[in-house]
Amino acid sequence: MARNLGPVCRLCRREGLKLFLKGERCYSDKCAIERRNYPPGAHGQARTRFSEFAIRLREKQKVKRIYGLMETQFAKYFEMAERMPGITGENLLVLLERRLDNAVYRLGFASSLAQARQVVRHGHIAVNGKKVTIPSTLIEVGDTISVTESSRQKKVIVEAIEMAQRRGVPPWMALEREQFRGTLRSLPARAELTMPISEKLIVEHYSR
Ligand code: SF4
Repeated sequence: MARNLGPVCRLCRREGLKLFLKGERCYSDKCAIERRNYPPGAHGQARTRFSEFAIRLREKQKVKRIYGLMETQFAKYFEMAERMPGITGENLLVLLERRLDNAVYRLGFASSLAQARQVVRHGHIAVNGKKVTIPSTLIEVGDTISVTESSRQKKVIVEAIEMAQRRGVPPWMALEREQFRGTLRSLPARAELTMPISEKLIVEHYSR
């Protein structure tokens, strides 16, 4: 599976926003956005006027990067969202939230989305008691996501759980920290997704 291997802090600087891609570092004063909140590159500090196209493109890129997806994967989610009843932009965000790697990160079993993906791939996560190693698995309401019994003492997971306490758990999920498991209680309502995202611009981008 293709993935972005470049320096991730540049992605945040490009979007002018903390995307929380580096775990603990994102909460420290080493965060690149805290130090240099302007786009990377030689002309990063130049004043730039964005076209309508560029504004929509940037919004799509931002969401793609928040969820750590490549272009083709992201476009597939958009097509799925279009086929679903309801508002396409909101469907898209809910689909992305339902990815297993995202749920693992949200529950605090990993300190970043990239780490969550690795934790899933390495077989440390079970859904409804069955080991699942595909990060893109879409979880359903009522599904239980847990750390497998043999992985509960893994340093990476223990540290992530400790660090995640400051983030808290989103209202659409329930966490039983002592049992190393959480549940998707409901699908997130749009108002509960607090990242500054304008999904309407993404819909406009793909509808051009
Ligand atoms: Fe983004 Fe985290 Fe890097 Fe800050 S430390 S720029 S939030 S990835």
